[in-house]
Amino acid sequence: MFICDKERVKDKIETFAQFGAAGRGGITRFSLSKEAIQARNEFVKRMKALKIKVFTDDLANMYATVPGSGPALPGIVMASHLDSVRNGGNYDGVLGVIAAMEVAETIVRDKIPHRHPVTAMVWTNEEGSLYPPAMMSSGILCGKFEKEAMLLSKSPEGKTFGEALEAGGFAGDPANRLNPRDYAMMLELHIEQGPVLEAKKKQIGVVEGVVGMVNYRISTRGQADHAGTTPMSYRKDALLAAADAIKYLHTELDKLDKNLVYTTGELVVHPCVHTVIPDYVEFSLDARHRDPEVIKQVVKAIRGLPKKLDKCAVAYREAWARKTVLFNRDLVKMVEKQAKALGYSSMKIYSGAGHDAQYAAEMLPTTMIFVPSKDGHSHCEEEFTPVEDAWRGINVALNTVLAADAGFTEFHRPPAD
Ligand SMILES: [Zn+2]
Repeated sequence: MFICDKERVKDKIETFAQFGAAGRGGITRFSLSKEAIQARNEFVKRMKALKIKVFTDDLANMYATVPGSGPALPGIVMASHLDSVRNGGNYDGVLGVIAAMEVAETIVRDKIPHRHPVTAMVWTNEEGSLYPPAMMSSGILCGKFEKEAMLLSKSPEGKTFGEALEAGGFAGDPANRLNPRDYAMMLELHIEQGPVLEAKKKQIGVVEGVVGMVNYRISTRGQADHAGTTPMSYRKDALLAAADAIKYLHTELDKLDKNLVYTTGELVVHPCVHTVIPDYVEFSLDARHRDPEVIKQVVKAIRGLPKKLDKCAVAYREAWARKTVLFNRDLVKMVEKQAKALGYSSMKIYSGAGHDAQYAAEMLPTTMIFVPSKDGHSHCEEEFTPVEDAWRGINVALNTVLAADAGFTEFHRPPAD
């Protein structure tokens, strides 16, 4: 088995944590911001120091490729993102980039023979914090989003993604985009962002896929009236109706499979004045489960909402949905095998969060490796994964890349066009 260098991993984590440090242990590093450019420059500097060429595509996705010994073989790519949410942590995304860099560095420094080119890749704008939606570049590459529309995505200050892309200086040739002809597979290491691995005392998460989800907007409509002069029996309080609708949904959804997760994270109250009875409330319901049948039951429960609650009209609409994404079976097995061979404890797991890997999976064989998140915290400054855990995950990644390099015939290749 091949092993990477724990001290180097630690150094990379500490170095990247400086770019956008927000003062309480975490970072704010929006895609294409000054801080994100610093992180990109560090990536380029470190790759160039190893004599690895770096190039970019038209969306400023970065590719650092170690050539393989084989004649014109498709590449093996490891990728994640350097951008963060506001007051995010030092591990979401960046640890996957560090893993990709460390795998490339180990292969170069230890002169590990390999036939396929091995690429460390950085996706642009995974979080979509300033320029929504999330997973923008991978979404464009796999045809989910139109590039022209995405270039117009605006930050709260009114700057477009297209302007940021131009100003960032990292936009390159569209011919360099990740594609199923020039690349054989993609692997993404990521923190779990949940408490399961830690609770089950497992060192490695063998990710089987990304759970499907639905996102509904549910609204209640009542009557705005004076908070002081309207007796309780006269009221049509849309917020009370919304509270009862949320309670109704919790009761119904709790009857479904215990692995279902659902959240109301957004509540819009109109007119949102303390002296006025609310006349309109809209709230979100995000529900996730790997089994589409369970998601169907969720939709059925939403449709079962009473048409009237507390004398207010109740309505709902689907905002968006995504199907469960299954990762490449051969690659999933390969990750599991490497973890075992390295003597690490592992378990199969689904991702509840979205990742660029789920869009990449539409183009080429793809899978992910999870490492534990302390107390399950993520998208906050407390986000933490011990170096030891990160290092183990990167060792699994390194050996998976090399096993794939050796056993590439196991994969189904798309027909040449
Ligand atoms: Zn991420």
